Amino acid sequence: PIILGIETSCDETSVCLLKGKDKILSNIVVSQIDIHKVFGGVVPEVAARKHIDFMYKITKQAFKEAEITTEDINAIAVTYGPGLVGALLIGLNFAKALSISLNKPLIKVNHLMGHIYANFIEYPNLKPPFIVLLVSGGHTMILKANDYMDFEIIGQTRDDAAGEAFDKVSRMLDFGYPGGPIIDSYAKKGKDIYKFPKPLYNNGYDFSFSGLKTSVLYFMKDNPNAKKEDIAASFQNALVDTLVHKVTKYAIKNKINDIVIAGGVAANSSLRKKLSEFSSKLNIYYPSIEICTDNAAMIARAGYEKYIRNIFSDLNVDAAPNLSLKEL
Ligand code: ATP
Ligand code: MG
Ligand code: FE
Repeated sequence: PIILGIETSCDETSVCLLKGKDKILSNIVVSQIDIHKVFGGVVPEVAARKHIDFMYKITKQAFKEAEITTEDINAIAVTYGPGLVGALLIGLNFAKALSISLNKPLIKVNHLMGHIYANFIEYPNLKPPFIVLLVSGGHTMILKANDYMDFEIIGQTRDDAAGEAFDKVSRMLDFGYPGGPIIDSYAKKGKDIYKFPKPLYNNGYDFSFSGLKTSVLYFMKDNPNAKKEDIAASFQNALVDTLVHKVTKYAIKNKINDIVIAGGVAANSSLRKKLSEFSSKLNIYYPSIEICTDNAAMIARAGYEKYIRNIFSDLNVDAAPNLSLKEL
């Protein structure tokens, strides 16, 4: 089948045409980073309006690049949550309109399942059970994938998400938005010499990053001459160490050798490097950088999984800003 994927949950407008399991015919991602950068974060109302600007244009462009017509697609997969309600509604309503006018079935997709499924594009032979470290702008979780559509939550953050912590610390350091990639590159020029706390390090599988963020803030007040590169490296190290420690501990303890990382923070070079140190014991999977952050290819891929199971959605489906992984 050919699945049209649509993603508008936050500040990326994206459309993909995916053939079969893993052949990306086109995947257009328009990022609104430059628009939101001046505000230091995503402005929901602005994001929604920008999605309207881009939605139709990039859909046409996606078909053109894929060299197929609307007749050739078999279904339309669209993110219905979690995310910003106004932003979600643009993609969802566009998908509904296409579904009616083209007479093609609609498939609602959970954005978080999409992040996990980005890995299936890269690794077609990946099979459950596996462990997932889902680290994004809004979520931080360790999951056990018992089956293709069955994700059990092992641990999650009690406050800030990993990506959110990167973004907030970046703002404190005056690096700008989005913080993850900027801190990642500054950290390469710095040294991990400041010992920031690693909350809940040896305490179960939940996370808490708000205290780490606050301690960076106090440290900066007390040490105005500390090098920003060193602060970035030390912060990143404390956070990444905690992620790696918990997820590898769970995998080893439960004898599941495959760890899949997903979400925007999966692009982090230090996270990839530290996990690769376990490669003699564990198999580590991560998507290529382009499909770590929000994109429609991952949505189309998750949609494909529902398509082959004949799981379609009716046109009453509403945007679900707080959707959990229990509901796919
Ligand atoms: P969610 O998927 O939870 O709804 P989101 O869609 O906003 O949230 P993603 O698009 O998955 O999140 O990821 C964006 C986040 O990833 C941002 O917080 C960004 O700072 C972070 N990020 C991107 N690249 C890197 C990197 N190299 N290192 C660390 N963090 C990164
Ligand atoms: Mg984004
Ligand atoms: Fe996301």
